[in-house]
Amino acid sequence: MLEVQPRTFSLFGMTINNDSLTEAADKVLHPNAGKKARTVSFVNVNTVNLSVADPSLAESVNDSDLVFADGAGMRIAAKRQGICMRDNVNGTDLLPLICEGAAQEGIPMFFLGAAPGVAAKAAMNLEKQYPGLDIVGVHHGFFDKQSNQQVIDCINRSGAKILFVAFGSPIQEQWVMKHRDALKVETVLAVGGLFDFYSGRIPRAPLWMRRNSLEWLFRLIQEPRTKFQRYVIGNPIFLWRCFWQLEKQY
Ligand code: UDP
Repeated sequence: MLEVQPRTFSLFGMTINNDSLTEAADKVLHPNAGKKARTVSFVNVNTVNLSVADPSLAESVNDSDLVFADGAGMRIAAKRQGICMRDNVNGTDLLPLICEGAAQEGIPMFFLGAAPGVAAKAAMNLEKQYPGLDIVGVHHGFFDKQSNQQVIDCINRSGAKILFVAFGSPIQEQWVMKHRDALKVETVLAVGGLFDFYSGRIPRAPLWMRRNSLEWLFRLIQEPRTKFQRYVIGNPIFLWRCFWQLEKQY
C-alpha cells in the first residue's frame, strides 16, 4: 500500500508532528522566540486509551506546541490511515539527543518527577555521560498541591530553559497545562517514566526487544501488577480501535 509522509497528521482526535528524532530534538532545543513556555507531549497507546475515557487529556495534548508519536502502536495506527511515521519519537530515545545538543550549546535543564532520589540519580548519570551538560535542578514528583508554588519557584530560580516533567499520564499533561504560564522556562516536556530508566532504577528493554516492538512486554514482566491494565487490557483495545474505528485517510 502506498503511504504518504505528511508533516502533521491526526490520530484519534490528536494532531501529531511527523518528525524524525533529530528534527524533534532540534525543535526542542531551538524554540521560536516567544514569551510563553512551549509545551511538548508524547502520544502512545496508553495516551489514546486514557483520552477516550478522559477527553481532557486529548485537549491538553492538542494544546501542546509539539506532539510526537511514541511507540509501535502509533505506527500501526498511522499505517492503517495510509501514513508513514518518520520515526518513533519517544522521550527515552529523544533525551540523549537533547542532552548532546544542550551540552554543546550550554542550555540548562531541570528534571521534575519520579520517586525521591531518582531524578537526581538520572541527572548525575547524564552529566557524566555528556560533559558540559548542566542540569541545574531536580525535584521528585510526589509533592502535594500546596507545594506547587514552591516547586515552580524552585524551577524558575534555577534558570533552566528546558523542563522535563515525569509524573505519568494524565497527571503530567494536566500539570503542564495548568502551570505553563507560571513557568519561566522556554520548553516543557511531559515525559513519563524517563528518569526511572536513566537513573538505572528500571532497566530498559534489550535492543532486540525494542527493535521488534516488544518493549511493552519487557515492562509488563518488570511490573506485572501496575502494568497489567495498561498492556494486557489496553493493547487489544487499542488494536480494536485501530482496525474498527480508524478510516483510511490517504
Ligand atoms: N510519578 C510521579 N508522581 C506521581 C505519580 C507518578 O512522579 O504522583 C512518577 C513515577 O515515579 C514514574 C513516572 O511518574 O517515574 C510514571 O512512569 P510510567 O511508567 O507510568 O510512565 P510512562 O512512561 O509509562 O508513561
